Order: sequence, then C-alpha cells, then structure tokens
Amino acid sequence: MEEKLVLPGEKITTEEEFAGGANTYTEEGVVYSTVIGIPSVAEKKMSVVPLGRDVKTIDRNMLVIGTVTDMVKGIVFVKIDDINIDHKEYLALKDGKILLERPRPRFGRGPQRREAQKPERVCSVGDTVLAKVLYNDKDAYTLTLDCQECGVVHATCELCGGELEYNKDANALVCKECGHREYRRVSALYEKPEEIRKLFVYSQ
Ligand SMILES: [Zn+2]
Repeated sequence: MEEKLVLPGEKITTEEEFAGGANTYTEEGVVYSTVIGIPSVAEKKMSVVPLGRDVKTIDRNMLVIGTVTDMVKGIVFVKIDDINIDHKEYLALKDGKILLERPRPRFGRGPQRREAQKPERVCSVGDTVLAKVLYNDKDAYTLTLDCQECGVVHATCELCGGELEYNKDANALVCKECGHREYRRVSALYEKPEEIRKLFVYSQ
C-alpha cells in the first residue's frame, strides 16, 4: 500500500472495507484519522501510525508566519512556514489566504468617493507576514491580519531590493539603500525576530 500522509479528520477508509483501529474514529460508517500519520492495515483493521509524538497541525486561532506569494482581486496568498517551538513541530500542509476587506462603495461624487474606494495597501508580494488562523478549511487556511501583533514583519524595497526600515514619524517603510518609501500594515514586531519567537513560545 502506498505510504500516504493523512491529517486529523481526514477520511481513511469506510467500515465496509476496514474497521477503524488505533488513532481513528468512525462516523456514519466512515473511518477518519485523529492524528497526522501513515494509514496501516493489520487484522482487517485500518489504523494510523502517528508520524511523531510532537507533530501537530496548525489550527484555528494560531499565529503563523508566511511569505506573500501572490495578490489577486483582494485575496492575498500566503505560503505558511512550518513552526518549530520548544521541540514541538507544527506542520503547515496547506497554503493560507487573506481576504482583504473591500471598502464599501459610496454613492457620492468627486474625489472623496475615489479616495474611499482606493484599497489600502496592506502588504506586497515577497513580504513576510505575521497572521492569525481564522478558519482551517479543507484546502487552505483563511488568515487574518486583524490581531494585535499581526501585519508585515519583513519587507524589501520594490525598486532596489534593499531592506525596508520602519520609520515611525512617516508611518512608512523606508529603504535603507535608496530612501524609497512604501506603505504597509506594519506589525509592532517589524524586524524583531526574537520577540516574534517569544510570542510563539508563549501564545501557542
Ligand atoms: Zn530601495
């Protein structure tokens, strides 16, 4: 049998084929895994051999770090990093997406209306973002940047690729190399990897 990794809640067989064994549960004749692991058949039972004691999946309300890979029509696509905290490993087996709130259309006239419809530049492709998991959907995580520490934590200049530094007075990111200014939803933990690490250790 092919060695295929299954996730908690993933269907592994039906009772017509095999009864559920260790690390499974059965609902309406369908056998699901309760752990991350490899399904294995023994004595007409389908069990799941856990991948490792301390391997977990990223789930709702957890904080994640990822890289923005694409932005299409108000959806930000994020490649989520695996997280390793105090010898516990959290696997990101799916990508994440952030749905940007669209500004409500106003029925006024003139520049004010255009201003209101101009979407805020929350992040850019290539940015590193700190986000929270809103929903753990079947094929992707839905993330949000609406949490205290969430936002962009690392970014580079769109013109020269230099490091962007947060300038409090300008409330903008300024390139260390060429001085170019860019705007983002900047996290309070921008360029503070050590504090981000602490946050992960104490919050998850
Ligand atoms: Zn630059």
